[in-house]
Amino acid sequence: MHCPACRDSQLKPTKLEDGLLAHGCEQCAGALVALLYYRDWAERAPQPEAMDTGLQAEPAKETPQALTCPKCAKLMSKFQISGTRSNRLDLCTSCDEAWLDGGEWQLLKALELSRSMPAIFSEAWQRRVRQESAEQSRRERFTRLAGADSIARADEVRAWLKDHPQRRELLHYIGHE
Ligand SMILES: [Zn+2]
Ligand SMILES: [Zn+2]
Repeated sequence: MHCPACRDSQLKPTKLEDGLLAHGCEQCAGALVALLYYRDWAERAPQPEAMDTGLQAEPAKETPQALTCPKCAKLMSKFQISGTRSNRLDLCTSCDEAWLDGGEWQLLKALELSRSMPAIFSEAWQRRVRQESAEQSRRERFTRLAGADSIARADEVRAWLKDHPQRRELLHYIGHE
């Protein structure tokens, strides 16, 4: 099998974790993971320990172009990990194989998402990611307008008001000149 990202290098059997086999590319450090084995590993693996400090040392890569599955040559689909990260995982829905760019496994671990892979590929997860992204860019827009300090204060007020029984009245009061 050829690496879907480098194309010219061969994938070799490797191990992401104890009990989790994959096919890795030595050139780009990407890895192809069979979800069949992954699910089995995720069920049996011990609970992850507190976050390793060395994990974020190298930023994860992200291949912008669409990749073709090394097994069946069909186009793989991209799934964004979270609303605050641009990294996307590639999935071949025919083969049930996921492609992780170099560093993305470490990123999943750092975000405590290393057991959440099938969930990331769900419509519900992707909807939440889109909401998070929209909220993130809205926040950035308002930060440019009002400054980080003001937005931080506004966030505090927002959190305080969120479930306040007199939320409407208080908003009305604040908005009144
Ligand atoms: Zn590669
Ligand atoms: Zn495939």
